[in-house]
Amino acid sequence: MKFADLHLHTSFSDGTYTPEELVLQAKECGLAAIAVVDHDTVAGVEFTIEIAKSEAIEAISGIELTAEHNGLEIHILGYLVDYKNKELIERLDSLKRNRIERIYKIASKLKAMGINLDPQAVFDIAIQGTVGRLHIARAMVKEGLVGSTSEAFSKYIGDRCPAYVCGFRFSPYEAIKLIKEVGGIPVLAHPYSLNHDELIPAFVDYGLMGLEVYYPEHTNSMVNSYLGLAKKYNLLVTGGSDCHGDAKHEVKIGSIKIPYELVEKLKAAK
Ligand code: AMP
Ligand code: ZN
Ligand code: FE
Ligand code: FE
Repeated sequence: MKFADLHLHTSFSDGTYTPEELVLQAKECGLAAIAVVDHDTVAGVEFTIEIAKSEAIEAISGIELTAEHNGLEIHILGYLVDYKNKELIERLDSLKRNRIERIYKIASKLKAMGINLDPQAVFDIAIQGTVGRLHIARAMVKEGLVGSTSEAFSKYIGDRCPAYVCGFRFSPYEAIKLIKEVGGIPVLAHPYSLNHDELIPAFVDYGLMGLEVYYPEHTNSMVNSYLGLAKKYNLLVTGGSDCHGDAKHEVKIGSIKIPYELVEKLKAAK
């Protein structure tokens, strides 16, 4: 039996594994297929696919876009996107610049709270990746400003915390449309975190094609309930660990392993 983990981040966003490390880890835990779904970027996809090939692992392209509806944060995964599409890359470049601006804004909010965090310390951690709150949290730990990344989120940069700054967010419609325009399959990520299943039919009308049913935080009853919704709305079923390498070391690659058959269904739907 072959297995896949379809929700992985690399150092091209806020994961710590380079594509090489990711592929080696995937091999170590016996995965037949992986998908890279970095936040707002496809920059790590080509490397990962190439390296995976040499290790006899199948890597498929992907992305995780941040959307919002009525103040609710919604993550939309896009599988099998054309990661070489020029318009997509241009659009994502503008999101990358937006994320850099946001780091300065968060740093100045922190400063107003008496916390001095040099934005450069954050960029040094992100290196080439699309920069975000997990990099801020890691920089704060490194600079001794908090004891842990979770403390950074709970005291300062988590949603509704004093140094929180909202980044660019698509509407769910725009995110789904963009993914479809570049040949991708839009899938609702970790539906438990949205916790508003009643919105799913509208997303299906916009073109949503799948649900991330298997996810570390999903209980058995959630899995069953999402399987029911997938059946009801004729949606593909996906799953993955959302591993960020050592940035969230409690979430390990392969902690969710889905049957390879689900990858075949995904590819067949393209
Ligand atoms: P951003 O896209 O910059 O808003 O950052 C999103 C990243 O922060 C994702 O990797 C989330 O999983 C992570 N994140 C959001 N809230 C928390 C939290 N309370 N604790 C740890 N990580 C979080
Ligand atoms: Zn992340
Ligand atoms: Fe997510
Ligand atoms: Fe993720």
